Parts: sequence; C-alpha cells; structure tokens
Amino acid sequence: MIGLSHVVSYLTCPRLCYYRIHFGENVFAEIHAVREIYFSFRQGFDLEWAESRTRSLYENFDEGVFRRAAEKFVYIDHGLRTVDFDVYVRSEKLGVGMVVDEIVRDGERDVPLFISLNPPEKGVWLRDVIKAGFAALIGFDGARIYYAYSGDLRSAETGYGTKRRVLKLIERVKMVERGFLPEKRESKYCDLCNFKEECHSKPETFASKFL
Ligand code: SF4
Repeated sequence: MIGLSHVVSYLTCPRLCYYRIHFGENVFAEIHAVREIYFSFRQGFDLEWAESRTRSLYENFDEGVFRRAAEKFVYIDHGLRTVDFDVYVRSEKLGVGMVVDEIVRDGERDVPLFISLNPPEKGVWLRDVIKAGFAALIGFDGARIYYAYSGDLRSAETGYGTKRRVLKLIERVKMVERGFLPEKRESKYCDLCNFKEECHSKPETFASKFL
C-alpha cells in the first residue's frame, strides 16, 4: 500500500523515495517531535508529558532534536474542535493509506489537519497541497495546515487539478515500488540524505529518466 510519506519523499527526490520504500529509514526528525508536542498541548498536557510520550514511542529518540523542536514550537489555539488525533485512513480501491495528524470539525464536515514546520510567505507549501489532495482521494474535502513554528493555521483546497496531480504521483510511486530506480534529483537535500553513498554509486538508466 502506498503511503502519503512515500509521495512526499518522491516530491523531495524520486530516488530518495525508492530507497525509503525498499530499504526503510529510521530517523527521528524535528517533525516527529513537533507532532507529539502538538498532540500533547491539544489535550492539555505540558512539554514534560510530550517528551515522555515521545521517548516511549520512538526507539531512536534524540533529546537534542526534541529540544530544538520544542524551542521553536508555537502553540496557538484556533478554536477548532478535535474529532480524533493521529488517525490512519485508507482507500482499498486505490491502494493508498495515510496518517492524518488531526481530524477537526468545521461546521457540518470533518476536515483533516496536517502539521508542518515553517510556513511560506503566503498560502501553503506544495507538499502540504499534496497532503490535502491525497486526503481528498480518500474522501475528505479540503484540509487545514498548522505551521508549528509560527502558529499559523492555513487552508489547503483540493480541486480537480490537485487530485489529478496526486494520482499521477501515486502512479509514479507505484512504479518505484515495483522496482524502477528513478534518476537522481540533486539538491541541497543531498547533504542530509542518509542514502548519499548508495545513490552516488548507482548509475542512472535510460528507463529512470521516465520517472
Ligand atoms: S543523495 Fe540526493 S539524489 Fe541521491 S537519493 Fe539522496 S536526495 Fe536523492
């Protein structure tokens, strides 16, 4: 089953997506800490609880990463009513699944909320649009993005164009899952990439150019 995280990885670098699907990656990043802090604060718990919760959930917990995330975290209560937290939803028909950080009540409908780090100047990042589009394929309409390093809450709409774009990405990720090795997408992310060595030793193929 293709997960949202695979599609987001594909956006960063298609080859990174290949490595994550076929070899897995066990890292503890600021976004993991931020999610746990958010869940704790939303339920009225403090930072100490958030840290204990995170330690017990992540075997690769890193105190330095947690502290850095906690220093930047901004909590603003925007008055949204929580329906559920950390929910796994999926579409058997499409063979895709995702974890929704929070489902909130917006008037008559339930809307998914995703946690992100820094906001762009206006609107939402492409990867956040893709998260909203992925959720739309599973049956939600629209999404909210909580930018945890500023406290901004923004909306991501999910029209036909977004859903079409996400479907295309899912099809590509399915090809990667079947074993196609995509070409490298060199960027500043390469310096942080855990698969740098493996990647640089693998040649590109003619077929990889089509992914
Ligand atoms: S080193 Fe760069 S090009 Fe290679 S997989 Fe990582 S991010 Fe992609």
